[in-house]
Amino acid sequence: MLKIDSHTHIIPKDMPNWSEKFGYGDFIYLQHHKEGFAKMMRGNQFFREIKENCWHPEVRIEEYQQFNTQVQVVCTIPVMFSYWAKPLDCLDLSRFLNDHLAALSEDYPKQYIGLGTLPMHDTELAVKELERCRKIGLKGVQIGSNINDENLNEERFFPVFEACEKLNMALLVHPWNMMGEKSMQRYWLPWLVGMPAETTRAICSMIFGGIFERLPKLRVNFAHAGGSFLTTIGRIQHGFDCRPDLVAIDNNIPPKNYLGKFWVDSVTHDPLMLDYVLKSIGSKRITLGSDYPFPLGDLEIGKYIDEMDLKQEVKEDIYCNASLEWLGMTKNDLL
Ligand SMILES: [Zn+2]
Repeated sequence: MLKIDSHTHIIPKDMPNWSEKFGYGDFIYLQHHKEGFAKMMRGNQFFREIKENCWHPEVRIEEYQQFNTQVQVVCTIPVMFSYWAKPLDCLDLSRFLNDHLAALSEDYPKQYIGLGTLPMHDTELAVKELERCRKIGLKGVQIGSNINDENLNEERFFPVFEACEKLNMALLVHPWNMMGEKSMQRYWLPWLVGMPAETTRAICSMIFGGIFERLPKLRVNFAHAGGSFLTTIGRIQHGFDCRPDLVAIDNNIPPKNYLGKFWVDSVTHDPLMLDYVLKSIGSKRITLGSDYPFPLGDLEIGKYIDEMDLKQEVKEDIYCNASLEWLGMTKNDLL
């Protein structure tokens, strides 16, 4: 069975030192301090150590094939978004990353599908770069759950979504720049509490802002099974019903109506939860995902799904059909 991993991250092994190049800012760069490892530096601050499976295409293939995965959808690591940079500098950096993703998917057309990154804080530049992403063979783009603390319903982002729909480009929304991060540094809370909340913030903003209503063909996938959105949909729907004066101000369609209209990945780490997600939105809207190669990801790439008592066609939807539909591709593109 074809297995596509819809949520993985990659970074070029060699990148310019953007802080030196632009003369400001804590841009990310890699210090290759020992064989097979690199220190990710944010300005002069150590951010995290990464292994060569973050950049080496063949090491990655060797690792993911152990779990019978044939294809990875690859995008940058969200810390690279750099929406805080001057727009033209962010464009420069985005182009570098996008060219790397395009070259990778050209060299390994059956193993890697690329999703680009955009300078989202400058609409005009973002749309231009989106058009270029399409030309160089990327199938979509990954954006943050907020753009410098602005929510995705803000009118300034709409032309980017509109262009995604028009150009048939898929969208992956990934949590980053987590709300409350400064006040919950201990216990890895930004990742454990902030990330699921961020994704919920993004889904609610897009629903209540009427984005799906205005762009019915826009194909959006939300990371980590949609964060805490699906588990709090009862509360969100009830809020919409009891206080429409607060919630239904831009879109009067109930939030529950959007279940099954967008995609989420399978990264739940829990069969009970995946079963709930399946019941909530159906197998055609759940894409196998791992968050490879990071430790908080499902690095056995869906092994627990294999072990679940699910119909073969349900597994096939999760493993490939849902991703193919989201990406606007067919099996023949990959066989
Ligand atoms: Zn991720």
